[in-house]
Amino acid sequence: MGFSDLYIDLGTANTLIYGKGKGFLLNEPSVFAIKNGRFENSVYGYGHLAKSMIGRTPHNVSVHRPLREGVIADFDTTLQMLKSFLAQIKFSSSWSRPRMIISLPCRVTEHERQAVIDVGMRMGARQVQLIDEPMAAAIGCGLDILSHQAHMVIDIGGGTTEIAVIASGGIVSAKAVRLGGDDITERIIHDLRQDFNFVVGHQTAEHIKHNVGLISPTASLVKVVQIGGFDLERGLPKRFDVSNLMIQKAVESVVERIVFTVKETLAELEPEVVVDLIERGIVLAGGGALISGLDRHLTQQLGIRTYVCKEPLLAVALGGARTLEDQELLSSIQLQAHSG
Ligand code: ADP
Ligand code: MG
Repeated sequence: MGFSDLYIDLGTANTLIYGKGKGFLLNEPSVFAIKNGRFENSVYGYGHLAKSMIGRTPHNVSVHRPLREGVIADFDTTLQMLKSFLAQIKFSSSWSRPRMIISLPCRVTEHERQAVIDVGMRMGARQVQLIDEPMAAAIGCGLDILSHQAHMVIDIGGGTTEIAVIASGGIVSAKAVRLGGDDITERIIHDLRQDFNFVVGHQTAEHIKHNVGLISPTASLVKVVQIGGFDLERGLPKRFDVSNLMIQKAVESVVERIVFTVKETLAELEPEVVVDLIERGIVLAGGGALISGLDRHLTQQLGIRTYVCKEPLLAVALGGARTLEDQELLSSIQLQAHSG
């Protein structure tokens, strides 16, 4: 028996796989760990397991994040990681090769686009169909993308933020910033070290961001989280209280660049489109949309009501899944198909 057709949301931070008629089959961090043996390398782990190893790897294991800024940065590792994901969901392409839909950022180079197609074909696809990520996000957020009235969606992922205006099933305008939630995490690591002589790992920094990462109109102490790290001043490990104020700069620096690009996008739109957005508001998707207060901050900065969709971490994948189930919807938004 053949395997059902698949949709893959290949994100910088997380990969989700949906099987036609089956539902979601996989939701794992896009992380891959390799054990470097004396004669050959082998798979050590992937997904959640591999992510939990970041910053605590034994000397013979290396942890990779093969996607950068929304695109494939390391082709071979991406392919190996996806093969492990497919093995986990007991995927086999040996009988009838399935069709695969894969989403990717809309402003990518031909080379980056080709890499996604190649990775799909190498996984055993009969055909790879590509869709634009912001389009998938808009569908997943429940927007009526076929309406002639315009909508704006902002998808803040791990390494990219995509801002798109959509009307009549097409993209009216799109911009991408190669910056996302993971950049906030990196800035947190940097600032804690520079301003407080305190060294934390990637996962601790992410934990801090999830717990006290917020953007607020008034700089006041709202939240504190206790974490562990290394105190450079005393040269010893230490427990440390981190407040939202201590990571404020980190959050703001990234959010400001996003706000700047959204303003740029708005300034280039036709007046009728702007009126549509004023009426309909702007929807936020992607894990980065979970920074608390972001919707309020954008509403205030842009003068257009901005809200977070129901399931920001799932939005793109929910939209992609719908295009897999609904051929008509797919053909109204699809980019070119590639068969082998
Ligand atoms: P991608 O599509 O690029 O894989 P995702 O949409 O899965 O990215 O979002 C991942 C990003 O969202 C990461 O930077 C992660 O730290 C961030 N994130 C996830 N949950 C939260 C949260 N509760 N608060 C703030 N950021 C979050
Ligand atoms: Mg994404």
